[in-house]
Amino acid sequence: MNTPSRVVVRRISALFVSLLVSAGGFAQASSSIQTPSQFLGIEVGADRTLADYRQIGSYFKHLAASSRRIEIENLGPTTLGNDMIMAIISSEENLKNKERYREIAHKLADPRGRSQSEIDQLAREGKAIVLVTCDIHASEIGSTQMAMEWAYALVAGQDAETKRRLENVILLLVPSLNPDGQIMEVEWYRKYLGTIYEGGRMPWLYHHYVGHDNNRDWYMLTQKETKAMNRAAFLNWFPQVWLDEHQMGSTGPRIFVPPFSSPVSPSLHPLLWRPIDQIGTSMAWRLEEQRKSGVIYGYSYDAYWPGGTMNTAWWKNCFGLLTEVASVRLATPVEVEPGELSGGSKGLIEYRQQTNFPNPWPGGVWRLRDIMDYERIASDALLETCSNYRESILRDVAIMAMDAVKSGDPYEYYKISLEQRDPPTAARLAHLIRENGAEVLFSPKTRTYYIPTAQPYAKFLSEVLGVQRYPMVKMVAGQNILPPYDVTAWSLPLMMGVQVELEKLSAEAERGLRPLQEDDWPTGIVENATASVFAVSHETNTVTRLINDLLRKKRNVSVAREAFQDGARSFPAGTVLIESVGDPAVLAKSYSIELHGLSRNPGVSASKLRDVRVALYKPWQASMDEGWTRWVLEQYNFNYKNIDNNNVKGAALGTQFDVVLLPDVSKDVIVDGKRKPEEGQSRYFQDLPPEYSGGIGKEGSKNLKEFVEKGGTLVALGSACDFVIDEFNIPVVNTLARARSDEFNCPGSILRVHIDPGHPVTYGMPQEAAAFVNERIAFRTSVPGPELTRRVLASYPDDAEEILLSGWILGAERLERRAAAVALTYGKGKLVLFGFRVQHRAQTEGTYRMLFNALQWAGMEEPR
Ligand SMILES: [Zn+2]
Repeated sequence: MNTPSRVVVRRISALFVSLLVSAGGFAQASSSIQTPSQFLGIEVGADRTLADYRQIGSYFKHLAASSRRIEIENLGPTTLGNDMIMAIISSEENLKNKERYREIAHKLADPRGRSQSEIDQLAREGKAIVLVTCDIHASEIGSTQMAMEWAYALVAGQDAETKRRLENVILLLVPSLNPDGQIMEVEWYRKYLGTIYEGGRMPWLYHHYVGHDNNRDWYMLTQKETKAMNRAAFLNWFPQVWLDEHQMGSTGPRIFVPPFSSPVSPSLHPLLWRPIDQIGTSMAWRLEEQRKSGVIYGYSYDAYWPGGTMNTAWWKNCFGLLTEVASVRLATPVEVEPGELSGGSKGLIEYRQQTNFPNPWPGGVWRLRDIMDYERIASDALLETCSNYRESILRDVAIMAMDAVKSGDPYEYYKISLEQRDPPTAARLAHLIRENGAEVLFSPKTRTYYIPTAQPYAKFLSEVLGVQRYPMVKMVAGQNILPPYDVTAWSLPLMMGVQVELEKLSAEAERGLRPLQEDDWPTGIVENATASVFAVSHETNTVTRLINDLLRKKRNVSVAREAFQDGARSFPAGTVLIESVGDPAVLAKSYSIELHGLSRNPGVSASKLRDVRVALYKPWQASMDEGWTRWVLEQYNFNYKNIDNNNVKGAALGTQFDVVLLPDVSKDVIVDGKRKPEEGQSRYFQDLPPEYSGGIGKEGSKNLKEFVEKGGTLVALGSACDFVIDEFNIPVVNTLARARSDEFNCPGSILRVHIDPGHPVTYGMPQEAAAFVNERIAFRTSVPGPELTRRVLASYPDDAEEILLSGWILGAERLERRAAAVALTYGKGKLVLFGFRVQHRAQTEGTYRMLFNALQWAGMEEPR
């Protein structure tokens, strides 16, 4: 809708921009510097026009070749091998001395041992290092186009204000945190331009493995892009301010700027919010000044969860900001009817004027250019404010870091011993903490990791090494709490199944510690190296990679189905037996495991393992869980292939695969290729191009059943269990299938489960484990006839009080005594249902084992 008043606003803002440009005196800029539109030969920001990441990269190279105000740092290759670049933009003088400013930023980030006057001096001398990241969510693409125009204005601008800002600030500008996805989106967009699919979503993830969850990876650091940006931020540059630019839905406010909404994590330093709110308010101010309506703060996005880019940064004493601008259909304008505008989110229940939203956008046409203009004004306000408050910002980082140091005990450490169930995973946790930028020490004598509690990132440590209790944020007294933005638990020791203890060390013990080094891993142990059969514990995750590597080389690997004794040593059921291993010492070291040479054949029943052929189902409603699962399978060298709807419908399933793995995808998506709308929501569903529409249908369901009846194994994760329960005739029900969210809600918490350790799927698991739960699933089994067997693998405690380990849950009593995982035999085949999330976002390493075992079980003969 293009109301007359809207047209007037457009004209005024166009006039305003042109005034700014002439006042800025771009005419004086070096004539060799071209604008993005001149350089690329397209009208950047025009409707239906997008520059792809390769063009953007070439434009930034052009700027770097034409100006001494910009340098390009290559952060490294992305997952698909593109270069991820970061532009460093500042005054020529600052760039000459950038090493000095980087050193100052580092010293202020870790001010231990410095006097107040030294800190003050560093704050006076230093420059504000401001990181701006764009487009981590590739379809939120406006910022990639804006970044070019912004960089041009900063590099070419000859006005005093631009120069002043660049004297005070070193801007680190990342035009896309997801270059692979940016390229995918633009190629998809161009392909369907002018068709009925124009601007629609892609049938695959916009990050090769993790899609939208690339912004859920910032403490776990699994993906290349996350690792590269984390390294640049927390090991190299130590920015004091980090703005991450996103887009949101089309029918709410036009832009979110900080302040954030509740809840606020109590472990965060309160000083964080003052500069963040100041900068956010400056953004809102400058937007309003330029007649941009629809600015909101205190909305939807809370300050509680550490999984995102700038969110994690809060726990590392960095002022993290977020902007979210209303979306268009990639580069195709949208027209929003006034009645379609809606609130419905924390901070704006109804779409109307209120204090945090004083000037609602009235509706009308919204274009890519609008997104870019809003983002540009907010980005400029960021530079302006950081330039104005440079010294305070630098000093405040040191204040927060010092307070964090003081919050710990100088003699107290988080201790991670290698004397535990899964030493390589324990070592991984220590290295992960180091990779996050925290200080980790190592005792070469006791081979133990020690993490000081008194250090600048102390709050980050207590957050990810402790447990969470989600605060009671309510809209109205007496009502249910507001649902959290994302998950509510991120306790790494629980999720990874690693024992972490607090320990005070004597001064003498402290002298035996040194900084953690790259190769401080468990070295592996070999006992009785001349034996021909070796026993390996099933308790470590790395043994899975060992098994798969050996099977790929056609070596003999089996699993003992009963406990056995060898000399004085006893081995539990599930112990892995390997033959002819070459040099056992090399093997032990490269997998960080213990190999026990056996004096004789164990003489118990053992199942030979096969190199199982895994089919991982991939729906065209792109599933992040599919991507994460794929990533995990690759890390452990499983022999897998993706299958799509046509493959499931095809005849060859049983001849090509031993096991079909259904990721956490709802039944409706599997069967019909569409999500079922929630009550009261529109049934409208925009189709994908025909080759990507539909699901496996009745035909596919029938085929899957036949696959299992004839000897195949079907493993279902999370909500895919409902598909198996409904389509297969099994004595299992999901008692929460129809529960409302006000009856049971567990949006991502860590719960206690009891494990039955005697089954091939639970080999190597402890009797009690921490299970990650984010779906409404609780199984009740019943007694079957003789044609099948069922076995509860994991179950929730009898007492609701004992269920929650970390996070938040409503209706825990509905889980009492219910099963969390079930294995069945069915015809000649097998079914495994995991109601909890065994491999959630590649973070729950403590329960990976059950997924791996389920896949290996597919290759085992079962006595019938
Ligand atoms: Zn986003």
